[in-house]
Amino acid sequence: MPEGHTIHRLAARHAELFAGDKLYATSPQGRFAEGAARLTGTVLEATEAYGKHLLHHHAGELTLHVHLGLYGRFTDGAGEPPEPVGQVRLRLTSDRHWLDLRGPTACELLTPPEVAALRGRLGPDPLRADADPERAYARIRRSATPLAALLLDQAVVAGTGLIFVTEALFRSGLPPTLPGRRLGRAGWDQLWADLVALMRTAVHRGRIDTVRDAHLPEAMGRDPRVDRHGGEVYVYRRPGAPCHVCGTAVSRGQLAGRNLYWCPACQAG
Ligand SMILES: [Zn+2]
Repeated sequence: MPEGHTIHRLAARHAELFAGDKLYATSPQGRFAEGAARLTGTVLEATEAYGKHLLHHHAGELTLHVHLGLYGRFTDGAGEPPEPVGQVRLRLTSDRHWLDLRGPTACELLTPPEVAALRGRLGPDPLRADADPERAYARIRRSATPLAALLLDQAVVAGTGLIFVTEALFRSGLPPTLPGRRLGRAGWDQLWADLVALMRTAVHRGRIDTVRDAHLPEAMGRDPRVDRHGGEVYVYRRPGAPCHVCGTAVSRGQLAGRNLYWCPACQAG
């Protein structure tokens, strides 16, 4: 599933394509026909991402809400759109550009109170200027749940997925199984600041890189990582491989049905 940086990049991209334009919306697949009819003829005023949720705010207090889930994806282009291929849930077109959405978990119109309710269900998003990290820490410090599970819970922190969580815990030297209530104030401040920095870099580059300069392939004389996710990481999907910092084999374990990765030496706690 795409992590928050991808959704923030999409919000910026869609504003670039359409902001200020009157849009024509269709649902070639038919499942969003009614919503598309309501969107048609309205002006897209602004876009924003909140965690893994994408919002298009249209004139007339209409908000399009999209959650890509595991399989959703957008394609776009200039000029005339191509013939719809496959299950296109939503097609947006202006005089200049087109945008197709396939396979989302959510594609719906929300009223302002529904947008407020969605935001209320989500924890602070490290990529948003209005994020309040105290809200997340207030939950973490009261909880016996492992830190990795708390950080993956979108109600605690929004936008973080397995790669950011795994890597930020490594960089902070924290074991993923540490109970939330054992994370001290300084530890949280450091972890939050690191999530903000890692996620901003990912928005900028369009991929997740978490490795410090001293541990880059060229600095260490090692081969670059080959993985469809791209990016250089410390422990994510590197089970059994030597830790870039200490050489210990990276561990893998399960937590709530997700794979976790950590260095048993660097993250001994
Ligand atoms: Zn290590």
